[in-house]
Amino acid sequence: MAPAPDRYEQLPYRRAGRSGLLLPTISLGLWHNFGSVDPFDVGRAIVLRAFDLGITHFDLANNYGPEPGSAEENFGRILRRDLRAHRDELVISSKAGYRMWPGPYGEWGSRKYLLSSLDASLKRMRLDYVDVFYSHRPDPDTPLEETMLALDQAVRLGKALYVGISNYDAEQTTRAIAILRELRTPLVLHQPKYSMYERSPERGLLEVLEREGVGCIVFSPLAQGLLSSRYLRDLPEDSRAAKPHGYLEASAVTAERRAQLNRLDAIARARGQTLAQLAIAWVLRHPAVTSALVGASRVSQLEENLVALERLALADDELRAIEEVLA
Ligand code: NDP
Repeated sequence: MAPAPDRYEQLPYRRAGRSGLLLPTISLGLWHNFGSVDPFDVGRAIVLRAFDLGITHFDLANNYGPEPGSAEENFGRILRRDLRAHRDELVISSKAGYRMWPGPYGEWGSRKYLLSSLDASLKRMRLDYVDVFYSHRPDPDTPLEETMLALDQAVRLGKALYVGISNYDAEQTTRAIAILRELRTPLVLHQPKYSMYERSPERGLLEVLEREGVGCIVFSPLAQGLLSSRYLRDLPEDSRAAKPHGYLEASAVTAERRAQLNRLDAIARARGQTLAQLAIAWVLRHPAVTSALVGASRVSQLEENLVALERLALADDELRAIEEVLA
């Protein structure tokens, strides 16, 4: 099926920091719902609908599944089947940092692990290169220079176009930026967890990224679905919190949390939005943020989330009301 001819009239693109890379304001992540345990056709439909709606950026990592690696395999299948002619229109990222194979070289931030893992990711997706290759998490025991040199090497080998880091704090990020600048492979993207329920990037990180001209794509802006209509009344059987392999525990949906979510939902409804749309507008309000990296288990969620872009501006009294609920 040919992609929608009007796909580039659907959403705005924002520049990643002071780089040449433009990203869709909302990007799609394949952490959940694209593994070997998930129905392939649903994942495929989500990716193709995303592309039709102007989403050019798809985020993966070596370990996404489950089984680890299977999201990259499935995404490779979708690429070959449906998007083969559109590789130059896509920004595909992968990462290495978490456990992928047994032994001392199967995780963290050594050159040995990162470069082997990138080769394995390329093989699974059957790609020659990824657009962005990330160090998925800081490694306390490997010199930061070694990890950054491995990212630089990936670019010089033509296996990645840009480099990124994820889950690094403000201080680690400042050092990474300096090392990469010296190597002349600038840091283009940072991927932190950021939402109304995860405020740690506000403690220095966002400021560093803005000042240094590094792009910021925030993951789990819906707090894995908590900040949506999913859990306002009950715990749906097909939700992430109810699934055995998800990272969102059912115990996170307490009565107190539900009451808070309902108050946030009322603020969203007063704006003519759903809670998920408000949560997306809220992360995108920050000038450091380039893109909100969302997940979806069905096409309708993705469609709902994109409508957030029709009403991004948040008034001071709305922001204050949100803070009061979160306090
Ligand atoms: P979100 O916070 O966007 O949560 C997505 C989940 O929320 C969906 O799978 C769905 O769950 C639910 N949802 C989404 N939209 C709606 C809606 N409109 N109404 C109701 N429910 C909705 O992000 P994720 O936690 O999935 O993370 C997004 C991406 O970020 C990942 O795919 C990955 O690419 C990246 N990431 C990076 C990490 C890192 O360390 N760098 C770590 C984690 C994620 P349900 O199954 O209940 O339908």
